[in-house]
Parts: sequence; structure tokens; C-alpha cells
Amino acid sequence: MRSLQSEIEQRGARIFELVDKHPESLFSKAGFYQRMMALSMRNEHFKVQTFRFVDVLPSLRNSGEIVQHLEEYFDGMRDGFAPVIQTGVRVARIAPWISAFILRRNVSGMARQFIAGKNCEDVMKTLRKRRAQKIGFTVDLLGEAVLSEKETDEYAARCLDLLECLSRETRGWADPLGKNSELFPVVNLSVKISALYSQVNPADPTDAIAHLAPKLRPILRRARELGAFINFDMESFAHKNITLDLFKTTFGEGEFKDWPHAGIVIQAYLRDAEADLRDLIEWGRARGTRFTVRLVKGAYWDYETIKSKQNGWDCPVYFQKPESDMNFEALSRVLLENESIVTAAFGSHNVRSIAHAQAVADELGINRSRFEFQLLYGMAGPIKRALVEMGYRVREYCPVGELLPGMSYLVRRLLENTSNEGFLRAKFSENVAAEELLRDPNELLKRDGATPQSESLAPAAIEHRHCENDASLQGPPGDIYKNSPLVNFVYKESQEKMRNALREVRNRFGEKYPLVIGGEKVWTDKLTPSVNPAAPKEIIGYVPEAGIPEAERAVKAARAAFGKWSHTPFEERARLLDRAAAIMDRRRYELSAVEVFEVGKPWAEADGDIREAMDFCRFYAERMRFIGRPRLTQHVPGEESYQHYWPRGVALVIAPWNFPIAILCGMVSAALVTGNTVIMKPSEQSIICGAMLMQIFEEAGVPPGVLNFLSGHGSVIGAHLVDHKDVDLIAFTGSREVGLRIWESAGKTLPGQRELKRVVCEMGGKNPVIIDSDADLDEAIVDSIYSAFGYQGQKCSALSRLILLEENYDRVIERLLSAAASLRVGNPEVPGIMVGPVIDETAYRRILDYIEIGKSEATLTYQATEIPPEGYFIPPTIFTDVKPNMRIAREEIFGPVLSIMKVRDLDEAFDVANGTDYALTAGFFSRSPANIDRAKAEIEAGNVYINRSCTGAVVGRHPFGGFKMSGGGTKAGGADYLLQFLLPRVVTENVTRHGFAPEETPEYRDEFLWPKTEPRKVGT
Ligand SMILES: Cc1cc2nc3c(=O)[nH]c(=O)nc-3n(C[C@H](O)[C@H](O)[C@H](O)COP(=O)(O)OP(=O)(O)OC[C@H]3O[C@@H](n4cnc5c(N)ncnc54)[C@H](O)[C@@H]3O)c2cc1C
Repeated sequence: MRSLQSEIEQRGARIFELVDKHPESLFSKAGFYQRMMALSMRNEHFKVQTFRFVDVLPSLRNSGEIVQHLEEYFDGMRDGFAPVIQTGVRVARIAPWISAFILRRNVSGMARQFIAGKNCEDVMKTLRKRRAQKIGFTVDLLGEAVLSEKETDEYAARCLDLLECLSRETRGWADPLGKNSELFPVVNLSVKISALYSQVNPADPTDAIAHLAPKLRPILRRARELGAFINFDMESFAHKNITLDLFKTTFGEGEFKDWPHAGIVIQAYLRDAEADLRDLIEWGRARGTRFTVRLVKGAYWDYETIKSKQNGWDCPVYFQKPESDMNFEALSRVLLENESIVTAAFGSHNVRSIAHAQAVADELGINRSRFEFQLLYGMAGPIKRALVEMGYRVREYCPVGELLPGMSYLVRRLLENTSNEGFLRAKFSENVAAEELLRDPNELLKRDGATPQSESLAPAAIEHRHCENDASLQGPPGDIYKNSPLVNFVYKESQEKMRNALREVRNRFGEKYPLVIGGEKVWTDKLTPSVNPAAPKEIIGYVPEAGIPEAERAVKAARAAFGKWSHTPFEERARLLDRAAAIMDRRRYELSAVEVFEVGKPWAEADGDIREAMDFCRFYAERMRFIGRPRLTQHVPGEESYQHYWPRGVALVIAPWNFPIAILCGMVSAALVTGNTVIMKPSEQSIICGAMLMQIFEEAGVPPGVLNFLSGHGSVIGAHLVDHKDVDLIAFTGSREVGLRIWESAGKTLPGQRELKRVVCEMGGKNPVIIDSDADLDEAIVDSIYSAFGYQGQKCSALSRLILLEENYDRVIERLLSAAASLRVGNPEVPGIMVGPVIDETAYRRILDYIEIGKSEATLTYQATEIPPEGYFIPPTIFTDVKPNMRIAREEIFGPVLSIMKVRDLDEAFDVANGTDYALTAGFFSRSPANIDRAKAEIEAGNVYINRSCTGAVVGRHPFGGFKMSGGGTKAGGADYLLQFLLPRVVTENVTRHGFAPEETPEYRDEFLWPKTEPRKVGT
């Protein structure tokens, strides 16, 4: 008996033989597309610019814009083909209209290569041709990303229309093989599940299925009546579990339980694909009716790797191409071995993968008519033909739709065709030998010295990068530091942990937490309740209210502890922060749950806050290790100068409620690690979070008096402490009103005061986002909605002024309003809620007042109507016709209220964006490189975000903080932040004796950092 490998080689060789009879035109040398692909494969920069240009082109409305973008993308292109490009750009300048026309035509032509038709009538021309070639079809409706329920209704209606039309037009078509045709209906529709519900949240599969199933059922019902087949396409990993659950739920229902014409995709590049496939097969067996699995490698490899690296998640896909190939083969076998219940469809252009499936099917004695090969329209034509000639069943995946929505699909195909890893490029562009192309992927892995199942590859690579940076300290500070990962709520296990935590925290509602002063637990006569803003009758817990006596006690305790703490080696202080971070990690879900109840944070936002708190601890610990040692200032013979830092003294930390653990912890940890002692006062609305943080630092081993926890009224103890002569530093984050008062009070020097008080002051914003005329609206609208309404608009970074250009105003408004109308408003205890309650009754009333002001100044264009009857819920609200001088355009509202301003052009847009008292965050959406450069240079904000939401700063990556009336500090989570908590000091020694000096001067000196003698009592 021959080995499987030689069976594969034999079949592969036969396919190649047939392929070579009809050479592939895709990579031949003629035509615009071919030239572009050839250039793209030669030069990565050209490829990036080209694909970006292709992406933006359909949204450009006149020849001037097209030529301008052409120049911006390609002018100045270097390398061998620069003359070609530059000639093109020059010609375009001279004859813009003609050039634009030609470009559009060429790019449309290119899109047509992969998009089978604009609509049903159009695609039928292709399908008829394919029928003559014995190739079947599945049709996929291309569309813009679905942002609202209105758009999902449109998608569902288009699916139904398409089904009707395809059934009508293909009446009487027979099965190409004439055998087992009952398994393979002629009409086959591929459905994108994400296009049927705009609010899919991976944390909330129940809600997703509750909304998706009713949208899907009419489509399934009609398909069944028409004798058609429905396939669920698979999209990104975040949607995978929901898609699988939806498939099992709907096809398990009585109405569809005995319907065999349903299929779903399994992506072999996913590490957990085999578990999913086996689970599906078991489900199918229990259901008792056949179904189909289309096995593919997967179309989102780059997206998944980027996304998981950004969030610190385990990457769900394999890192090495042969691993995906191996898995594809393993899963092919699983499918074929279970042929009695599942029909296999192999979605691949890779001859090795195809030949493997053929060989295994033959080995298991499965007839060729009982499974099929599926390939994409416009790709690998000769392979399709070869498979038909060999007597296999072939189906083509035909995308249908307009050019504009088709661009993301086109770019995916272009990427695939130019990928270094791809089979098509290797075969048809680089003419790699058949023998090489048919190698066993297992052998390839061994040959290249790689280990299969390389789960640890990425983290190791990251580790390696950190080591390099650590050694040289040359890399960006954020790179030296590795952020904590976010919790990925796509996993059922994470969802379960969060639900348990919510239950447990609810069970201890009403507990009392003490103040902590000088290491002692302190109670007072009055207990302050902390209330759940989503259900104000619920009391989360109580903390005693501190008055002036407790404030005085705290200052004394902090002063007394300062001498020893300031002389504690920074490494020990840094370790305290590391331990605190580890405790937060352990209590992560519990802390998130407390935030959900106490400040109304949705799940992911609460988790983001805890992650940020851990990051602050670890990042500042790292930074302290970096700046802690006295460091030589300059090499100069005969003299040594060392700069180092002393702590300032007693730090008062006053924090807000909107990031109740992160911001509090950020300021506290910075003060502690730099050797200051701290009085920590959380916001009155988030005292339980404050108490939790105190517990964490106590468990981490903070010495008595070094950190003191006071809860009370800002106007009483806050004001008293700000004015206290023994407080040396105030770290404040909060409103402009209070911030300015602190800034002023701290400026007055009191009798007996040792230091000029240092104020680290972070205040609010009135943050703008500008959407340029060529922006990708799918992204701009999703991100703007999230920036404005995420956490109810209560982030200081939140978007509150959306600036739109006249020319795309109507397009944006239409989609934006329906997207806002689709938001889920409710109790954030429910996973997947995006808009919860505002913090308390005062805020509630203030925001409602602003809405009234808005009504009198501008036009109320949208306001949600369905909000919970109890709790401090404010409906998401949008005003249009807002002018820069109106109050709603100038004053910080801190709630889910968005003001939209219409401007003539970008000049005016930048003027309006900059025309406020604040300068915290700003966003700009554009695909024009020149306009992006302008935004980077001109927008007045501490954090400028291009083509992404303007909230969600990550420690070390986006050092955060503003200027003008937004703040007077240095970036939190940035390299310089700790310096504000320190007094810089330089010690210079003349080391020359009679003209003789040591030859070498060490980079660091530690001798005088920790004097051998007991520390003097400083300031007691
Ligand atoms: C009919 C049809 C329908 C499809 N439907 C879907 C769908 O619903 N959902 C979906 O996600 N995909 C789908 N795809 C798959 C996808 O769009 C690609 O076409 C497919 O992955 C290309 O694989 P290949 O076997 O043809 O080519 P090959 O060149 O052999 O494989 C390329 C693939 O390998 C994987 N890969 C690339 N680099 C690496 C790496 N470094 N490490 C690990 N793996 C790597 C990627 O998945 C990449 O697409 C479909 C494909 C076809 C043909």
C-alpha cells in the first residue's frame, strides 16, 4: 500500500498537470491589476500605499480629490519604479479628469475581478457561465459594516430578495454530477451573521442570539420553501462562539431540526478549531439530520494577530503557516471520517490541501459526489477547471454588491494574493516547483526548525524584545514595559467568572469598611452609604465619614512615616507596587464587579479600569527602577556630578469616581514609589472602590502611616488638607472648578510650610472629533458613537463635539443617528450593555438641565426613548445645528450628550476644534495623508487620536493628560510622570587631588543614596 504522502503527490501532480494546460491569467504580465500586483510583491511600501488608495478611492467624489489622494499616496515614492509612479502623478495633475476616470475604471475592473456582480441580475451572467463549466455557486452579499438595526433590516431584506431571484433564475438547473444531488441544492446563500444584529457583544451571547434568531428565521424559512441552502460564514474570532451557538440553537429548533441544507464554516487557523468541529459533529449526531461544514483556513489572520497583540490576549490563530495547513488536514480527516452526519466542503485554493482531502476521501471510500471543493470567484480559475475535469464537485463563492461596500473584501483578496505565505503567490507568481508545493506541512515545520503548536512563540518574542530594550534602555519607555492583558469576554469562562463575581459582591452589599490612619482602622459617628446608580435603593456598602480631626490625624501619621519611607530603597517600594498589582490581578473580577455596582461601569469598561490600575503599579515600579539611582550627568575629567531625586513629602491624592480604582491607584502608586507618604481620598461616589484599594495596599504590606485612607466631603476635608502646611504635594484629578481652586489655594505659602506645594492637576475636556470627507464611515461612526456614549459619556476623554464637513454631513448624520438609536441602554450588570446610569442624582439633574439648555440653543435631533424607569439613566441625546459659542459646545456636560457642528471645510473644522478652553483629547478620521499630517500638527489636545476612538488610553502606550484648562500636570502613564512627585538634586564632587584624577567615572553611584546612619527624622 502506498503512503498517504505519495497518494497526495500523485493527485497533486495531476491537478498541476491540468492547471498547466490552462495557465492562470491572474499573475500574468498584462493589465493594470497584474502590474499592480507585481509591483506590490516587490515593494512593501508600495503595497501598503496601493491598498490604502484602493480602499479610499470609491469614497472620493470628484477628479480633484482623486488626483490629490494619488499625489499624497505616491508622490515621493522612491525605489526602482519611482519614475513610473511619478510620471503617473504628473499626468494626473495635467489632466485630472481623464486620469481620475481611468483610475476609477481600472480599480473598478480590479474589483470586478473578485466581485461577481452588482446585484442578482448582474451575477446571473456569471452563474450561467459557470453552470456551463459545471461549477456551482454560493452567493455572498457584500455590505458596509452594519452599524444599526435599520441596516440589519436592510441586509435581511436583501438576503430574502436574493433568494427569490436566484431561485427564480435557476429554476430547472440540474446537479452538475447528477449524483447525491439531494445533499447539494443549486441555490446556496452564504450569510454574514454580524450583519443581522448591530449590537453583538461577545460578552453577551444570550442577547446576541435573542436578536439574531428572529432575524434569521424568515430567511431560513423562505430558503427551505425554495429548496435553497444556507451557509453561515465565519468572521472574526470575537464572533465565533456566537455564530456556533446560533447555528446549533436555530437548527435545533423543531421547525428546522430535520432540515439538512444548513452549513457553517470552521477556520483551521484557529487553535480551538478541532474542539469546535468535534462538538458540532456530536451536536449533529444528536440532532439526527445531516449538515455541512465548509472547512477553510481563515481570512482574518492579520486582524486576529494585531488585535490580540494590542490587547495582550492569547492569540487564537497559529503563528506559522504550516501549522494552519496541518490543522486543515487533520480537520479534513475528522470531517470525512464523520461523513455519515456531516457533508464536507473544502474551501481552499491550495493544491496540497485539496489533494490531501482527495486522498483521504479515497482511503475512506467516499464517493466524489458526496463532498465538494469551494473556491473564491476570481481566484484560481485553472484549479477549479482541473477539479471539474477530475470529476469533483466544485462550487464558487460569489460576492455580490456595489463597489464601495466591496472594498474591504477586495483589499482582503489583494492581501491574500500578495501574501508571502500564500499558495497562489508561490504557485502562480513565483513558480515554486510542484514538489515543494506538495510537501507535507509537518515536514516543512521540522525542516524550518520550528516546533508545531507554537503557542509560546509570540509571548517569547515579546519577552525577547523587552530584554533587548531593558539591556540598552534605548527603546521607547512603553516598550520596556509589557501591559497587563484585558480580560477577553469572548470566552465563556471569563463570562462565568464575572457573573460569579457579581453574585458574590451583591451578597456582601451593606458591609462597612473602615478608614485607615497610621495603620489603624478608624470609625466615626457617621457612616456614608454608597449607592448603586442603576438601582439607587441598593446600598453597596458604608464607609465612615472623616472630618477635620481625622484629616489632622492622617497628616500627622503621614508626616511621621515619611522619614523612614523616604529612605526605604526604591527597589523595596517598587516591589510593594508589584505586589499590589498581583493582588489586583487575583481579585480582578471582584474589583470589576464592585465598579459595575458602585459607579455603573459596563463589564469591559470596569475590567479596563482594573487593568489600568495594575499597569500603573507595574509601569511606575519600572520607571522608578530606571530613575532611582544617582546618575552621572556628564563625563568631565576631575569632577563627578550625579543627579538623583528625593521625595517631596506628604502627598494628598484626590481622585474622581469615573475611573475609581485606576486613577486613584495611579496617583497613589506614583506617590508611594517615589518615597512620599500619602493621604488618599477617593471621590464621595466611589468610596467602596477606595476602601478596596486600601485593602490591597495593606495586603501588599504598605507600612503604617505610609498610606492613609480618608473618606469624606471634598469641600470639608479636601479643602482643609489642600491648605495644610504639612501637605507638600497635591495630586488631583477631577473637575475644572475644583482643580482651579486647588491650584490657587496651593499657591499661597503658609507660615511653617517647608516646600512650595506642587500640584499635579488633571481636569476635564470638551473633546472634538472631526470626520473628514474621505473618512471610512464604517469606522468613524462606530468609534464616534463609542467615544461619545461609552460609559455614558462620563470619561474626561469622551467625545462631546462632533465636527462634520458640509460635504459629507448628510451621509454621516443618517448612519450616526440610526447607530445611536440601536445602542443598548440599561443596567450594566447585564453583560453587553454600553450605556448605563450616570453617577448620581446631582449629575442626573445637571445633565438634564444641559439637555434643556441644548433644546433652547440648538436642535434636538435624537434622544433615546427606551430607558429603564428606575436609576439615574439619561437617554443618549444628540443635538445638531450647534454653534461654537453655545453653552452646550463650550461647557463640559459629562454625560451621554453629543453636539454636532457643521463646518465648511477643514480650516474651519480645526478652528472649531481648537476654539475651546480645554485641550484634553481629540480625534480625526481621514484617509488623506496630508490632512492627517495637518491634524497631527494643528489640533490642540494632549492626546490626539487619528482614525480611532478618542478614549481608552493605555498606560505606557498613550501617556495621558491635557493642557489649557484640561490640566497642569505631566502625562499619567508616561515616562516623566514620576518626576512631579520628586525633588531633583545634583551632587558634585571635585575628585582632583594635586592635578591627579581617577580615569574612570562610574555611570551610577549608590553610596550616598542610602546613608549608613539612621535617617534623620525629617519634618516630624
Ligand atoms: C469558498 C471559500 C469560502 C471561504 N469562507 C470563509 C469564511 O467564511 N471565513 C473565513 O475566515 N475564511 C473563509 N475563507 C478562507 C479565506 O478567505 C482564504 O481564502 C483562505 O484562508 C486561503 O487559504 P488557502 O488554503 O486557499 O491558501 P493558502 O495559501 O494555503 O493559505 C493561506 C492561509 O493560511 C493562513 N495563514 C497565513 N499566514 C499564516 C501564518 N503565519 N500562520 C498561520 N496561518 C497562516 C491564513 O488563513 C491564510 O488565509 C473561504 C475560502 C474559500 C475558498
